[in-house]
Amino acid sequence: MVTAINLGFPRIGARRELKKATESYWKADINAAALEAVAKELRATHWKAQKDAGLDIIPSNDFSYYDQMLDISAVVGNVPSRFNWVGGRVDLDTYFAMARGLKDAFACEMTKWFDTNYHYIVPEFTAETVFSLASTKPIDHYSEAKGLGIETRPVLIGPLTYLKLGKIKGDADVLTLLPGLLAVYEQLLTKLAAAGCKAVQIDEPILVLDLDKKWQDAFGPAYAQLAKTGVALNLATYFEGLRDNLAVAVNLPVASIHVDLVRAPQQLDEVLAALKPNQSLSLGVINGRNIWRADLSNALKLVEKAIAKLGKDRVLVGPSCSMMHVPVDLDLETKLDAELKGWLAFAKQKLAEIRAVATAGDKGRAAVEAIFAASDLAQERRKTSTRLHNPAVKDRVAKISAKDSQRANPFAARRGKQHAALNLPAFPTTTIGSFPQTKEVREHRAAFKRGDITEATYNSFLKTETEKAVRFQEEIGIDVLVHGEFERNDMVEYFGEQLAGFTFTQNGWVQSYGSRYVKPPVIFGDVSRPSAMTVEWSGFAKSLTDKPMKGMLTGPVTILMWSFVRDDQPRDVTCRQIALAIRDEVVDLEAANIQVIQIDEPAFREGLPLRKADWDAYLVWAAESFRLSASGVRDETQIHTHMCYCEFNDIIDHIAALDADVISIETSRSDMELLEAFVTFKYPNEIGPGVWDIHSPRVPAKSEMLNLMEKAARVIDPAQLWVNPDCGLKTRGWPEVKDSLVHLVEAARDLRKSKAVAAE
Ligand code: GLN
Ligand code: ZN
Repeated sequence: MVTAINLGFPRIGARRELKKATESYWKADINAAALEAVAKELRATHWKAQKDAGLDIIPSNDFSYYDQMLDISAVVGNVPSRFNWVGGRVDLDTYFAMARGLKDAFACEMTKWFDTNYHYIVPEFTAETVFSLASTKPIDHYSEAKGLGIETRPVLIGPLTYLKLGKIKGDADVLTLLPGLLAVYEQLLTKLAAAGCKAVQIDEPILVLDLDKKWQDAFGPAYAQLAKTGVALNLATYFEGLRDNLAVAVNLPVASIHVDLVRAPQQLDEVLAALKPNQSLSLGVINGRNIWRADLSNALKLVEKAIAKLGKDRVLVGPSCSMMHVPVDLDLETKLDAELKGWLAFAKQKLAEIRAVATAGDKGRAAVEAIFAASDLAQERRKTSTRLHNPAVKDRVAKISAKDSQRANPFAARRGKQHAALNLPAFPTTTIGSFPQTKEVREHRAAFKRGDITEATYNSFLKTETEKAVRFQEEIGIDVLVHGEFERNDMVEYFGEQLAGFTFTQNGWVQSYGSRYVKPPVIFGDVSRPSAMTVEWSGFAKSLTDKPMKGMLTGPVTILMWSFVRDDQPRDVTCRQIALAIRDEVVDLEAANIQVIQIDEPAFREGLPLRKADWDAYLVWAAESFRLSASGVRDETQIHTHMCYCEFNDIIDHIAALDADVISIETSRSDMELLEAFVTFKYPNEIGPGVWDIHSPRVPAKSEMLNLMEKAARVIDPAQLWVNPDCGLKTRGWPEVKDSLVHLVEAARDLRKSKAVAAE
């Protein structure tokens, strides 16, 4: 029989129940028992939904109060010493403290989970880290489901992925910790077996990354040790193909291997050829990362191919990865029209898709013909729908020529003209765009959305806020002003709402980290810009001052990365469409006399493929898209971009290839770590290394900022340097913004006195 499997269900609840409960617990509005009651009910609901959908293998331990990596840290008793954990069980408050920090203990670092928008809590190790079984959550949840009459398969992050994704202090080798860690995994598996559990899912997504031999070699002995417990190990990989790690995977004593055939369908043949006779293959054919209704016929083809080689009993059908990356239930969307809804599937709907493909593999398509026919029809409609396909947009993309993604003249020629037009001092000061989104701002927006205040009232409030921000910047002497972005809810949503080809859901939430969920826009069709999006606000702000006013846009790569992107054409094509829409906006801003335009690309690095061999292809189209959006203007118009991270060293040439006249980047938190790149690479254009970490309310002294700028001036020509914060100020309060920016302007003034800058 072909088996229908799931690898993980969203934990947050269809109506964000988990968020509400955890945040109430943090505020001490409810106690631990009340929080646990909500969590228990969510788990029961999710298990039951999977059972009702007819899944054969249902996961447990996919639930987490915060993050599944942090859960493993709790299971293996890996609590950094600053949390004063005394051993024994890791209790709920210690668990949350690691994620969120305490007054006197900073939180553990958080970072992106592979190439998703989910963030995990990074395990911290030292050479002396000892592990002990300190949480029985996987066993408890297994038993909890059993109590409800549902047999589940506990999901565990594998020991090698756990170690590899952590950080060890000093230059110790984290693999020296493997024996100690395995001992605890063994204990855990033994206890699971005692509770009646016969099989677990072990996730080792690092098997899709570039691994050196030392890591590849560590898998065999580790899994041999775990296999001795007698619990069947089912290895899950996802987000990419196994490629050169395929031999590692099939040589493990595992009962099955799960592969992602949405991301890497081409790997099926080699996986089938390499699989050992006692291993089953779990086919990830339903996209766990996106919200489109699956092409069931296409999925079935892959399944039939596997069945032909392995027989039905060795084939499992499932999602490409855990479904935690998609929203819970499409049925809750009451505002999307029927046609659009007919093209979508959230987690609950994907369960039915998995069941249908497994049944078709088992009994033939005829057994579920109605479901397949509906799927075929939906695919067909999508191919031809005029709502998706806009010939004018396609035509414009087809006609893009090389010169469209080049400024008319090189930076060296533009620079003098920009300086003459803008008349800026050396070490010019600016900010990244947003000013504090105060409670008042958010309340007005909410009131306007609810219809409690009129558009006129709302707009006049926004105008007052904008004017206050402009006056403040003038008063303290900022050189290039911003309007403050008070009218924007979110840097992608704001644009998506005004672009054709985008739609929005009511409940399409996915977890970003902890209790923070995001509701990404949905790019369903060809993208175009029906009318100007930001010209009115930028123009209004410009009318208030004689200083240069910077227009603020979100770049095409970031809009793409932070949306659910259509799957019926390559991502780079969609990106170019967005780029053309942004280009039109840039040109309109220029026409409205905005001489400086910033195109934010904070997600540029996020798009990097997981395998280094694939980097170049991405970087080339991503950089081209950015330039496409930026290149429609005259030499005199100064294009800025902004990125909020400092891991630049490995892609600095591609960042330079964006050819932005000025780039602002995050550097203060890492004490200008990025500057290493500039020792060997001569960055050609102007650059503002952030001197104020805006992630904390702390007000940096002028001397700290000066110190950071001095460091920068040692490796970058002072004539190229700007002075600015690390990122936008929307999460900050006005008091610290005022003090910090005053210091920032003073630091720039001191620099102008102490550092001679060659005149243009
Ligand atoms: N212009 C945006 C802001 O200042 C940039 C945000 C970001 O980099 N994430 O808020
Ligand atoms: Zn930023």
